[in-house]
Amino acid sequence: MKCINCHKREAQKHERFGILPCKECQNKPYRNARKLPEFTTAEIKQERKEYAEDIEQPFRKGEPNKRYIEIYGKERAKEVGMSDYEIEHAKYVYSADDEYYDRNL
Ligand SMILES: [Zn+2]
Repeated sequence: MKCINCHKREAQKHERFGILPCKECQNKPYRNARKLPEFTTAEIKQERKEYAEDIEQPFRKGEPNKRYIEIYGKERAKEVGMSDYEIEHAKYVYSADDEYYDRNL
């Protein structure tokens, strides 16, 4: 069996870990290893959601953020500069970061 990384040299067999990349690839794993999909547990997802709420901004590109009002309340929204009109008409505003975030949940 060939090395899963370089497909040139013979893979190494390990009694506990099974098939490993060849010795040469193992010696420089960060340069040669393929990028594997991120392994995400439910617990990490939950932490990310909580973190997302922590960083919710009152305005995105000048638009009042409805989600901010839902999380922190109208009083806090007024404190950060939203008018009554803006609070009534706030929408869910999304940045490019949010789209990236949602795709990776
Ligand atoms: Zn290799």
